[in-house]
Formats: sequence, C-alpha cells, structure tokens
Amino acid sequence: MPKKERLFLTFDEALDAVRADFAHYGSQLNLLAVIWPMVFGDGAYVLKNARSRSVWAKASANSKLIPSSEADLKKQIMDRLNRLPPDPQHLARICRLVFGVRVTAGPGPEPGAFHGLWIDTGMNDFTCTQCGRCCRTLDYRDGCRVSDYQRWQDLGRTDILDWVGVVRQGKEVTACRIWVTPGTNDFAPTCPWLARSSEPNRYVCNIHDVRPTICRQYPGSRKHARLTGCRGV
Ligand code: SF4
Ligand code: SF4
Repeated sequence: MPKKERLFLTFDEALDAVRADFAHYGSQLNLLAVIWPMVFGDGAYVLKNARSRSVWAKASANSKLIPSSEADLKKQIMDRLNRLPPDPQHLARICRLVFGVRVTAGPGPEPGAFHGLWIDTGMNDFTCTQCGRCCRTLDYRDGCRVSDYQRWQDLGRTDILDWVGVVRQGKEVTACRIWVTPGTNDFAPTCPWLARSSEPNRYVCNIHDVRPTICRQYPGSRKHARLTGCRGV
C-alpha cells in the first residue's frame, strides 16, 4: 500500500510534472479548456464541437479563433508557462487542477530553501484492494529500470533475471524489458509473478518485496489511479 503524502517540487519541477501529466494522459480536453484562460488570460477560451470533434482556441481577446487540437493546446500551454511563468499562487491553482489534488505554494523543507509547490498526493489513505488489474492490464514492459536489474543481480535473483530482456552495449546493460519468456524474445502473456491469493478475488505478487520500481510506484496519485482504472480505495 503506497504511503505517499506530500511532495515538494521546485517551480521547474512542477512545470515538468505538468508536462509529464499532459504526455501521460491522452484525453483531457475539459481540463485544458479550464486551464487555457488561466494561462492566457481574460478573453482566451477553447471551443469544442463534440459532433465534429473539432477544437478551436482563442489565445487573447484580440486574437482570432483558430482550429486547434488537444496536442496543440498542451504544447501552447507548456510553451507559455515556460516563457512567462505565473506567480507561485497562480501556478499552484493550475497544478491543483492538473493533478486533481491540493497544491500550495511555499518554502521547501530545508531551512532557507527555495520556494516551490507542496503537492498533497492524496495517497496517504490509499488502500490497494489487490484486484490485480494493474498487473494484468497496464503496459509496464518498458518500465523496468537498469537499477532494478542491478538490484536483482546483487540479490542473486536469477529466477527474476531469467524473465528480463536486456539491451547491452559491450558488457553494460543499458535497457531492460519485462517480462520476457525465458529462452525467447517474446513477452510473457501475463506477469509470471502474479498469483491468486487464498482470499477470493484477490491477487498477490510473488516478488512483492523486490518488485520493479514501476510496480512499487503505481499508482502515483489519485488521478493516476482514476485514469488508469485502479480499483483501490
Ligand atoms: S511484478 Fe508483481 S507487482 Fe509487478 S506486475 Fe507482476 S505481479 Fe504485479
Ligand atoms: S489496480 Fe489498484 S487496487 Fe488493483 S491491484 Fe493494482 S494498485 Fe491495487
């Protein structure tokens, strides 16, 4: 069960997190339509035509309404935030909407630290119901880190390493993929470590204590959980 409560991000890190959120989650047009005037100011708005699935955007009171796309709106929002960063309170309001959690501006955890944003992840009271959905449906194949590989090597876990596909440059492992059926280049149809629990409708991870980082970090936030179909509560 994740126990992640508050994260401190510098303003640059907060912008990176907004960019990552935009890249990670495809359809967020309603969110973008709310954020757009917060970024571009009064007179800026986004129009959506559900029937034709077209999107139009106006970037200021004096500019024209022009055809756009979700990808273009995201790009323009990020370009603008990077070029003209809003004041901390305003950036906190934008991040609150993007991350779907409480965000406040303030000094960092160290004495005399730079100011930034405190993100309440909402994960402190998250409970995994062990439904196993994430293990069966999410695409974690490229999510294995070289540091995971090294950890399993250090622990002598050849049983796990047997299921890891690696890319090498010389002797060095530079990338990993999971889970690859031993002796083949084929991905296993399901995670080999997922097993039924003795309790009905529950699953367990047979390598729970040493599972890959991507598994340990899922879900990263309430929004991440909601948008990826997590059944935790
Ligand atoms: S390694 Fe464990 S946590 Fe990760 S997908 Fe497999 S069963 Fe799930
Ligand atoms: S989908 Fe959510 S509730 Fe289900 S096992 Fe994964 S983290 Fe737990």
